[in-house]
Amino acid sequence: MKTVTVNGRDYNWPKAPLVVICCDGSEPAYMETAMAAGLMPNLQRIIARGENRRGLSVIPSFTNPNNLSIVTGRPPAVHGICGNYLIDPATGQETMMNDPKWLRAPTIFEAFQKAGARVAVVTAKDKLRLLLGKGLVFDGTAVAFSSEKADRVTLAENGIADACGLAGMGVPDVYSAGLSEFVFAAGVRLLSGFKPDLMYLSTTDYVQHKYPPGSAGANSFYAMMDRYLGALDEGGAIVVIVADHGMKDKHLADGAPDVIYLQDLLDDAFGPGTTKVILPITDPYVVHHGALGSFATVYVYGPDVKEVMAEIALQPGIDVVVDRASGCARYELPPDRMGNVIVLSGGPAGTKVIGTSRARHDLSGLDAPLRSHGGLTEQEIPVIANRKFRNAPAQLRNFDAFALGCNHIVEN
Ligand code: ZN
Ligand code: ZN
Repeated sequence: MKTVTVNGRDYNWPKAPLVVICCDGSEPAYMETAMAAGLMPNLQRIIARGENRRGLSVIPSFTNPNNLSIVTGRPPAVHGICGNYLIDPATGQETMMNDPKWLRAPTIFEAFQKAGARVAVVTAKDKLRLLLGKGLVFDGTAVAFSSEKADRVTLAENGIADACGLAGMGVPDVYSAGLSEFVFAAGVRLLSGFKPDLMYLSTTDYVQHKYPPGSAGANSFYAMMDRYLGALDEGGAIVVIVADHGMKDKHLADGAPDVIYLQDLLDDAFGPGTTKVILPITDPYVVHHGALGSFATVYVYGPDVKEVMAEIALQPGIDVVVDRASGCARYELPPDRMGNVIVLSGGPAGTKVIGTSRARHDLSGLDAPLRSHGGLTEQEIPVIANRKFRNAPAQLRNFDAFALGCNHIVEN
């Protein structure tokens, strides 16, 4: 049997086209409530003869660290992507982590393509496509594009000339359920037309930030997803569904976001300029979460790190305060891309999020009570497959998705 080794893990050649779906922000309750309401008949059928388990995301429970973990099969300590935003250790400047140069490990797609496989990657957001497509050669055996920039694809850059024609859709608004629907529609067409050996479909969590499980907005998203799951299943693919992270309410009873403004607090305690709070959730698309999540890292310039940690630990709603070394060991993070202190929030209700300074967060775009992620309370994710697993690990991680599809599927 042909085997491909990537980042120290072995992957058998899949027994049928393998489609891994990363449903962004898909807290397990979303699919469970939609199924209970009879809105996901295809998923119900898939689960009846396959698997319906839970697994864990990596921490921080953010999109890019988890997507890159899924496609490399390893945690951020190996691939280096620990958020959207960091202090560049080379320059000391705050910068986005979108550039593929930050990715330190080859993807499973790159390794499989080198071994002769056909691979397809479709994402909602283009920033993620750039990272996931790193190392692919567009020679007719790879396709990688985003629905966000589907009208700007080229054969040279994306391996496809007309993505909108393929999906049968125009480019959707970046803040819409349509951005994710495009991913599924393209995936169904690629499965029958392009015939990939490996395919990765990664959606966006716009809907999950806005709508809680069981709400009309969420249910219509999952009913839509179910139609495409049915088509992928009937197309003969091995389908493995995971999420990058969960999603929880992050607001108080009156609907106001439950925020601790950590930079303001540390400035008061130690003086301005002595600490720098970095929120790795920061990205150009903040309308739906205001750059508020349950994970932060703090750089300390002068004060005693232990004193800073003690000050943070005093605040209500803080779940974890650890120094760089122990935090990176516990959560498998790259030490050179983390501050002196690592902080996770949540509190008894799991609702606490971390901000920098009150003045730096524009919450005017929040048109629904805040829901977000980043902490331990969003670590649980679904792991679903349309075939049974054999000899799968008891504790699944979302980044086992390709290994499950390649190595642990029972033929049926
Ligand atoms: Zn996400
Ligand atoms: Zn999100």
